[in-house]
Amino acid sequence: MSGIVTQSLESLRGVGPKMAERLQRYGISNVEDLLFHLPLRYQDRTQVTPIGALQDGAEVVIEGDVALVSVSGGGRRRSLIVKLQDGTGTATLRFFHFSQAQKNALQQGDRLRCFGTVRRGAQQAEMIHPEYRRSIHISDNEESLTPIYPSTEGVSQGQWRKLSDQALSVLAKHPPEELLPVRENDYGLSSALRFLHRPPPEADQQALRDGRHPAQLRLALEELTAHQLSMREMRARSRERAAPVLRDSKALSQHFLKALPFEPTAAQLRVMEEITADLATEKPMLRLVQGDVGSGKTVVAAAAALIAIASGYQVAVMAPTELLAEQHRRNFAGWFSPLNISQMWLAGSVKGQKREQALAAIESGEASLVIGTHALFQDGVEFAHLGLVIVDEQHRFGVHQRLALSEKTGGAWRAHQLIMTATPIPRTLSMVAYADLDCSIIDELPPGRQPVGTVLIDNQRRQEIIERVAIACREGRQVYWVCTLIEDSDTLQAQAAESSFAELAEALDGIAVAMVHGRMKAKEKDAVMSAFKAGHYQLLVATTVIEVGVDVPNATLMIIENPERLGLAQLHQLRGRVGRGSAASHCVLLYQSPLGQQSRARLQVMRESNDGFYIAEEDLRQRGPGEVLGTRQTGLMEFRVARLPEHEHLLEEVQEIAEALQQEHPQWVQALIRRWAGDRQAFANV
Ligand code: ADP
Ligand code: MG
Repeated sequence: MSGIVTQSLESLRGVGPKMAERLQRYGISNVEDLLFHLPLRYQDRTQVTPIGALQDGAEVVIEGDVALVSVSGGGRRRSLIVKLQDGTGTATLRFFHFSQAQKNALQQGDRLRCFGTVRRGAQQAEMIHPEYRRSIHISDNEESLTPIYPSTEGVSQGQWRKLSDQALSVLAKHPPEELLPVRENDYGLSSALRFLHRPPPEADQQALRDGRHPAQLRLALEELTAHQLSMREMRARSRERAAPVLRDSKALSQHFLKALPFEPTAAQLRVMEEITADLATEKPMLRLVQGDVGSGKTVVAAAAALIAIASGYQVAVMAPTELLAEQHRRNFAGWFSPLNISQMWLAGSVKGQKREQALAAIESGEASLVIGTHALFQDGVEFAHLGLVIVDEQHRFGVHQRLALSEKTGGAWRAHQLIMTATPIPRTLSMVAYADLDCSIIDELPPGRQPVGTVLIDNQRRQEIIERVAIACREGRQVYWVCTLIEDSDTLQAQAAESSFAELAEALDGIAVAMVHGRMKAKEKDAVMSAFKAGHYQLLVATTVIEVGVDVPNATLMIIENPERLGLAQLHQLRGRVGRGSAASHCVLLYQSPLGQQSRARLQVMRESNDGFYIAEEDLRQRGPGEVLGTRQTGLMEFRVARLPEHEHLLEEVQEIAEALQQEHPQWVQALIRRWAGDRQAFANV
């Protein structure tokens, strides 16, 4: 293997134990890792821009003579002002933090070279806190674009540059092995790395910013291939052990379907068939069911659960929040009690004796169906004979969590896995994020559903909207009023909800208003939701806790305050809480003006479309995969170079290369995964 991997960081100048420890925090533990720590962006310090030609917002080098040094303002607002002239114009350098020594060192007539961001005022261009130094030689321009490395703390840009300089010389001496087929004229691994760390001045900067430079594409191709291989290995690993063959000997699912007050849609039936076929083999099922909000995934999950239960196995149903898990509990209890199926509930809030009892029932096998949150795969939970795991809202769980649960079966077998997501995942993403899964799509809504009419209304017309809420409530309909906040703080969200609640309760005399937010205990939330569902309240003021799964068919109007703060996928989820019955439903996006152009364009998408897949594609385009999948926390999609959807066009080739590598060079597979995985969660195999 290459010498780079084995070369330790401490062989580099400037790296002692302290620096090594800091680099470790970036997942860098050898020279090769350092090479894969690629610049985020570049600055062009290769040319000096005439002051007269400065454009607002540009990051540039300027050079000129000091015409004036002065201090303006007083007290905490004191700032050091330096006027710089170069014959084409005058620029102001402004320093809010400065020392007397710094001021004294600057003299009229000094020649300075500065780098900074231009702010074009009415009269003069200004740079706030530019980097500057005295220029001694006329042409001491940089030879390459200046890389800016991802850095949060402990390592300065200067240090990153010194480190990468050294790593690049190691690279020149010990080029790493090429693990991907290289075509003529293409970048190889080494040349691509060299280019991206130190692009020449003439490099296409726009292409670099967009991630479509051939050097980036070369690395992205390799990274995506490594990821693909790790997903394939994951899949192979999760199929090393057999799963139980599950057949619906008691025809329970048929009884269940017949007892439903509606006919399943053709799409539901098709997906049920796909699942039934999977369960009947000993190859562990790994199936993702995607279906828009309200497409009826729960019924499909229930039918699958009955097949497992009929064959004598336990089923675990796991949801990301207690609220959603509780709703499943209620649904399943309603459907399964007539079939005499014993059900157990396990969530974080289940404590003490209750928890002991639940654990005992799960371990003895007395509980056929276990519903809960991630508390289900914590230590201490032992199943007697788990055959099927159903996970709702997959994207909130990591690959590892899923695997952990499917292994806790109580025997030597692996459980089948059914994963459901209401956030339609763009095809691009599912190819990458869920390469280890088979996909089923419920692409049909139950009959009679009408698309939710969506309007954008300025918050200045709030009174009108409150009137509209009153009218809907008096007509016997129910209404959601959703408060949003950017901060992911339950406390602040709760405050926002409380103030809207107070306002609405006062304005809407005679209308029963309730509130749910994340600071309430699960029991309280449950009580409020049940009461709302039962029609005891007409208006529910809520935070985004109601996002997933809540089902109240009589609710026909939803107001979303400050929708501009949310992503499209989340808005679509929220909106899916209405339009669940047969009456026409509406959603009012009550935005705060002024609305930026981008926000307006985003909200327009909501107005134009009710199609979750289309909305998800738009969301991906606008916000990137981390946000769309909600996996920023789990790091699922944190690639170093690859970007989606920008690199979507590489995916086909990625599949081919992965295939070929497995066939022809299986010995390279691990090396490739190791090279790219580092200690990141994006890769399943770490
Ligand atoms: P989601 O896919 O968003 O999880 P749910 O499973 O909660 O959707 O179903 C939404 C609502 O639609 C529920 O009230 C459910 O009982 C109902 N439903 C499901 N399938 C059908 C169907 N085929 N016909 C009519 N209503 C259905
Ligand atoms: Mg659901």
